[in-house]
Amino acid sequence: MSKGHFISVVLPIFNEEDAIPQLLQRLRDVLQRLPGKFEIIAVDDGSRDGSLELLQKAKENFSQLAIVQLARNYGQTAALAAGIDHAQGDIVITMDADLQHDPGDIERFIEVLDEGYDVVSGWREVRTDSYASRRLPSLIANFFMRWMSGIPIRDFGSTFKGYKAQLLKEIDLFGELHRFIPVLAHRLGARMKEIPITVHPREKGSSKYGLGRIFGVFEDLVFLEFYSNHLTKPIRGFGRLFILFFAIGFFISLCLMVIWCLGIIDRVLDHGAMLLFSVFLMIVGVQFLVTGILAELLSRIYLQTGNRKIYSVREVHKAEA
Ligand code: UDP
Ligand code: MG
Repeated sequence: MSKGHFISVVLPIFNEEDAIPQLLQRLRDVLQRLPGKFEIIAVDDGSRDGSLELLQKAKENFSQLAIVQLARNYGQTAALAAGIDHAQGDIVITMDADLQHDPGDIERFIEVLDEGYDVVSGWREVRTDSYASRRLPSLIANFFMRWMSGIPIRDFGSTFKGYKAQLLKEIDLFGELHRFIPVLAHRLGARMKEIPITVHPREKGSSKYGLGRIFGVFEDLVFLEFYSNHLTKPIRGFGRLFILFFAIGFFISLCLMVIWCLGIIDRVLDHGAMLLFSVFLMIVGVQFLVTGILAELLSRIYLQTGNRKIYSVREVHKAEA
């Protein structure tokens, strides 16, 4: 391994009092053996059990532990984002705080980053959770994400990941988007690698999610397709839909007119359904156009706020003065 890094481990925590003592102990053991510095950023996501008190107590004799206390429960993505914002290291590791992820894997994550990758993602090769409510939905979601994003990753949902901090800080996390970090990273030109990890069955506490999250994932998927492929020029996609719908509608109307002029039919209104259909297509087409113009305006405002850029730089070699 190289000279050593400053490693920031980010832990989103919502009611994990049963897991915290053991987790911190394991993390400390693992991180102390690595060269360089480390910090652990525990983000208390509005826990209602003793998690916060436990963390505060642990901090008394654990100088590398930082606590970020969120004002209420915002969800895992927000907790991750808060932790990432506070991370000072050049490498950021995110992992679940429920002991399902094994701190022992961190060393391999760092080796992969040292090989030159920007993102290393844990792949849950063997999964122990329920097939119907967890694995099957996840198989389907992963299939769609691979297909829509074109990124050959097997497991988008895994939150055990390692990043070069420089890249990670450029990613905007919003909504439930932590599952899509690979997609957002890909947009920034990140080099990614997936490695198998061991995932332990949850022994302490309980999962914070139910079946409800499946719907959220599919909505995010639709949004992400837009965000990663059309953000800088939305009018193009919508414009094409406009042309397609309007052209078909117009063509049908035109045909009706022509056969009426030629005297093949007596009254256009006898073919009311056709007429209605063609007008409907044209109206839908115009709606796409209007939506496209709005999206175009919105994306320009979006890209102008903050310091969002339409590109991402890996490195700059300055000219010598
Ligand atoms: N978590 C959080 N806020 C929430 C829900 C979950 O910070 O609103 C944390 C939780 O404490 C854990 C991680 O996110 O560290 C993953 O949650 P969980 O284990 O419930 O998800 P699962 O493993 O069932 O996908
Ligand atoms: Mg879990």
